[in-house]
Amino acid sequence: MGYELNRKICDLIPYEPISGDYSIRLDANESPESFPPEITQQIKTAVDSICFNRYPDPYAKELISAFAEYYNIDPTLVTAGNGSDELIFLIESAFLEKGDKMLVVSPDFSMYSFYSSICEVECDTFYKDNTLNIDVDSLINRINTTNIKLLIFSNPCNPTGQGITAQQAQRLISSVNALVVLDEAYMDFWDQSLINQVNSFSNLIVLRTASKAVGSAALRLGFAISNRTVSDAIKAVKSPYNVNSISQAIGTIIYRNKEYLTSRQKMIVRNKEKLYNELVKISEKQVDFIVYKSFANFIFIKTPYGKEIFDYLRDNSIVIRHMGEYIRITAGTDYEIDRVVCCIREFFSR
Ligand SMILES: *Cc1c(COP(=O)(O)O)cnc(C)c1O
Repeated sequence: MGYELNRKICDLIPYEPISGDYSIRLDANESPESFPPEITQQIKTAVDSICFNRYPDPYAKELISAFAEYYNIDPTLVTAGNGSDELIFLIESAFLEKGDKMLVVSPDFSMYSFYSSICEVECDTFYKDNTLNIDVDSLINRINTTNIKLLIFSNPCNPTGQGITAQQAQRLISSVNALVVLDEAYMDFWDQSLINQVNSFSNLIVLRTASKAVGSAALRLGFAISNRTVSDAIKAVKSPYNVNSISQAIGTIIYRNKEYLTSRQKMIVRNKEKLYNELVKISEKQVDFIVYKSFANFIFIKTPYGKEIFDYLRDNSIVIRHMGEYIRITAGTDYEIDRVVCCIREFFSR
C-alpha cells in the first residue's frame, strides 16, 4: 500500500514570500502605513461586538454595502471573497468546463495561470508587445480564432504598471464571446475602471481587492462585480462562510472612512510620481536601466542588473521584487523612496 501525489501537484512547492526582518518593504505593493488611531479605535469597538460562537454572514451584507457605497455601485452585483485570490480560483474552476481553454497575457500576475493548472484547464498565453502594452485588436483576434472561453488580466497590470483605457477594455469585452475577468487590483490609483459598467456586458467580471490601495492586506478581502446573472452564479458556487466575521466587521469600517482612504490614495499616487521621477533621473545616466511609466503604486524597471540591485538593496535592509530581467519597486513613504533611490544610486556609483 502507498499513496503518491498526482502529477499536477507532486512538484509544487508552497509559496514563500520574501521573509525576514527588513526595515523597508517595497516588494508586495502594499500600502505603506497602517490605520490612524481614530480608525483603529472604531475597529476595536466593532471587534468587541462580534459573536465568536456564530458563523459569519455568508453574504457579507454590511461589508458589501459599505464597499458598494464607496464605489457608488449596486450592492446586489457584488460578491465578497477571502482575498481576490479566492475569487480568481473560484471563477476559473466554476466558469470553465473540462476541455475549455482560457487565456492569460504576459507579463501579468502569475496566479492566473497557476490556478488554471490546478483546475486542469488549458491555459494559453498572449504576449504583450515590446513596450509591454496589449495590442487590443490582436488580442480580440486571438480570442475569437482560438476558441478561448475565459480571459483574465490585470488592469493596470501587475507587474508592468501599464494599462488599457476603459474605452479599449469596452471594445475588447464587446468583441469576444469569452468571459472577461478584469482584475482592477490597482485601479484605485487610475481612472479607467469599468466597475460601474458591469450591467452593460453579459461577459464581464471586475475584481477589486482591499489589499493594495485600501491598505488592508491583513484582512484578505476581495470583491467580484458583475451583472446579476453572473453575480448570482458566483454566490452560488462560493463556499458559504468564505469571509470571516472579523474581516467583515473591520472591512465595513474601513470602506466607510472614505475621505481618509481617498486622501491616502492621493498621497500614494504623489509618492509614485516622485519615485518615478527619481528613477528616471538614474536611467538618464545609466544605459540598461529602463523605467516604465506606471498607473499603479509601483514602478517596473528593465535592467540586466536586477539580481545585483536586489541583493545590494537587501544587504541594506530594503526588499523589492526581482523577476528575471526586471525589478519592481512599490511606492512607499517619502522616506522609503529617498532610501531606495539613494541605495540604487550608490549601487551604480560603486
Ligand atoms: C495583489 C494582487 C491581487 C491579490 O489580491 P488579494 O485580494 O490580496 O488576494 C490580485 N490581483 C493582482 C493583480 C494583484 O497584484
